[in-house]
Amino acid sequence: MKYVLVIGDGMADVALDELDGKTPIESLNLPHFDILAGGMFGTAQTVPFGVAPGSDTAILNIFGYDPRKYYTGRSVLEAAGVGVILKPGEVSFRVNLCNVENGIIHSHNGGNVEGDDAQGLMEYLVSQPEFIDAARKVGLKIHISRTFRHIGVINAPDDFVFKMTEPHNVLEQPVAGYMPKGDYAQEMTDIMNISYKLLDHHPINEARRNRGQMAANMIWPWGPGRAMQLPSFKEKYGHAGDAVSAVPLVWGIANLAGLQAPSVEGANGDIDTNYAGKLKAALNSLRAGNDFAAIHVEAPDEMSHAGNLKNKLIAIKCIDEQIIAPLLEKMPEVDKDFRILLLSDHPTLMTTRTHDGHAVPFAIYDSRKPGNPVKFDEKNAEKGVYLNNGDLLMPALFEMM
Ligand SMILES: [Zn+2]
Repeated sequence: MKYVLVIGDGMADVALDELDGKTPIESLNLPHFDILAGGMFGTAQTVPFGVAPGSDTAILNIFGYDPRKYYTGRSVLEAAGVGVILKPGEVSFRVNLCNVENGIIHSHNGGNVEGDDAQGLMEYLVSQPEFIDAARKVGLKIHISRTFRHIGVINAPDDFVFKMTEPHNVLEQPVAGYMPKGDYAQEMTDIMNISYKLLDHHPINEARRNRGQMAANMIWPWGPGRAMQLPSFKEKYGHAGDAVSAVPLVWGIANLAGLQAPSVEGANGDIDTNYAGKLKAALNSLRAGNDFAAIHVEAPDEMSHAGNLKNKLIAIKCIDEQIIAPLLEKMPEVDKDFRILLLSDHPTLMTTRTHDGHAVPFAIYDSRKPGNPVKFDEKNAEKGVYLNNGDLLMPALFEMM
């Protein structure tokens, strides 16, 4: 028996005027989704009541780790996604490269700095004696990426409290009022100010300005979190395998749960992600002997945040045609007995362009008793079974309830 979990991030939505009162899923012809809905079909409260809806909290819960018990912060999961597993006594946080001019923050991502610019600026910064001295005072280490997002880790006693501001929430405001507060406030503020001094006139930033781009001239720590310990997925359920995704958050959950997270070339979290490559990675894992594989597709969520309904519809259709259809076709070659769970981790609403905490539609298909196709959408799902917490989904998939 093989088990496959497919998460279409943020697919679920509400009825929209532009779609004549239908939801995006409802408005589409998704015949392979409908085949899955011929099995167990209903809604699941993936985000527990009172918890902030996000991919972090929802996907943790889907994998069986109730965020009310386990969640310590998104940065911790993202750190784990790039192999940085926190030890007790360590705190991780996100480090953004921002744009600040004359004391005002204009961009939380340094004009979306990436590639050689992002890496070059950060490598220069962490090599400078003045920065090294300031970082040493708090035991700060920075894990550099080729995007505006980096990860910082510091040593901090368990009773330390950090208060850091989310930079995207204070755009076009003076930074002076939003510097770190709580423990290490002065040390962290010094680090930010030193980064500005060292980066503002760096040749990479001068070149960016000459090209009409924003300078990425200050680092900004936010989203602190402590070590998160998850019980082994294998020990919980007796099944194990790979989680295929393009986003560090999902890799991190997989790493902490003891699952593998293979990287797939061309899997980028965008609408033109490598759907075939992701499917192939999951099938290869199952062929190699694993009995569980997860495929996470970020695109519907990104398109919802961007407010692009046309592309959200395309992204959902791609999951039906390029993930579920070939999965149904190829799984019998891998194992004649298989079960597939399809769901949206949380709704992402076109109306607000943000996440929502309502229950999501889910379907569990069983090759031994496929049933007759049912239209997979939010309204039909409400007529089916209701799981009052998302941590029941894995037991449902694995027939443990
Ligand atoms: Zn999500």
